[in-house]
Amino acid sequence: MHDAPPDTTPNAPEPKYHALALLSGGLDSLLAIKVLQEQGLRVLGLHYVSPFFGKPQLLGHWREEYGIEAVNVDVRREYLDMLVRPAHGYGKHLNPCVDCKILMLTHAKTLLPKYGASFLVSGEVLGQRPMSQRADTLNLIRKDAGVKELLLRPLSAQKLGPTPMEESGLVDRSRLPGIWGRGRKDQLALAAHFGITTIPTPGGGCNLAEAEPAARYLPILKNLAEPASRDFSLSHLGRQYWAGGYWLSIGRNQHDNAALETARRPTDILLRLRDLPGPMALGRQYEPAAGVHPGQSPHNWPADVLADACAFAASYSPKARTQSAEGAEAGRPVIMLVRQGKGEAEIVTEISVTPARQTPLGWTEPKSAALAAWKRRS
Ligand code: SF4
Repeated sequence: MHDAPPDTTPNAPEPKYHALALLSGGLDSLLAIKVLQEQGLRVLGLHYVSPFFGKPQLLGHWREEYGIEAVNVDVRREYLDMLVRPAHGYGKHLNPCVDCKILMLTHAKTLLPKYGASFLVSGEVLGQRPMSQRADTLNLIRKDAGVKELLLRPLSAQKLGPTPMEESGLVDRSRLPGIWGRGRKDQLALAAHFGITTIPTPGGGCNLAEAEPAARYLPILKNLAEPASRDFSLSHLGRQYWAGGYWLSIGRNQHDNAALETARRPTDILLRLRDLPGPMALGRQYEPAAGVHPGQSPHNWPADVLADACAFAASYSPKARTQSAEGAEAGRPVIMLVRQGKGEAEIVTEISVTPARQTPLGWTEPKSAALAAWKRRS
């Protein structure tokens, strides 16, 4: 694909924005915009939002604190499709940084006409990150996103070849920095130059690049052919346990319990002790090979699996572990209420179980070690 060069003819109408910039909210993305604003260029930040990153509520903060205009851009569905099989693999955790950048830049290019802008900006710094900011990777991202002639990386401009925007004089290359490497000294000096005193993190925060959330996401990727945003959102709620394709989220407090109630879908089950205080548990089933199990329980969970889940969830109630509903000795059965469906369609049944942390199904928490092993195999 051949990119059209920026329109710099003398009589071209004044564009509303000269450039669109990827704005994660991290320091580098802010600085990339500031160095262009300093040249009198108008830059609109594109704040991409996915189930894993994005702080759409910060648009006002960026405007007031840094003088940067931005809009939110939601790419949830496209992002999930990419995350299942990123062409260039994952980084340290579940972060598909190369494909992520390609996706955002490819999308940003389509927005140029809408905002009358002629080029794209990103805050990448040559050599700053091992996977996505090596020279060869920066070139690959530019090429695969089809933005070879349209993308300016102002922070490392002096270390990279001149772009058409610099060659045409639209951007004054001599006033762009040449930052490279993993240090932060130059960025902090530049931040001081712009009077930025509230220093955000370098990247802006991405759960895919963090060990604990990435471990929680793995079973979803392994068990679901087409995971949805709501699945990843649920993985942040309460304690997480999996047994094959069965998934239990167990509330740790009232806030979690209320959030689980809100998160439930008609096909989910909600578990709670009938007579004792204890957590709410939400069960979601993903058993693609087995499909639904008609007739085995009113909730489409096989009866033995449902009883196992109830016993396990009940074990998170201290009262249930130490007494029965009638106040008798430990180890006596308790009654769990099982709810499925919503409103008039809701089915409520009762199951008698003995609370047990060790059950035949062996519910396990997602662990970072499993993620490392899965990445080695895949
Ligand atoms: S850290 Fe997250 S948001 Fe940033 S490039 Fe990597 S995957 Fe994308």
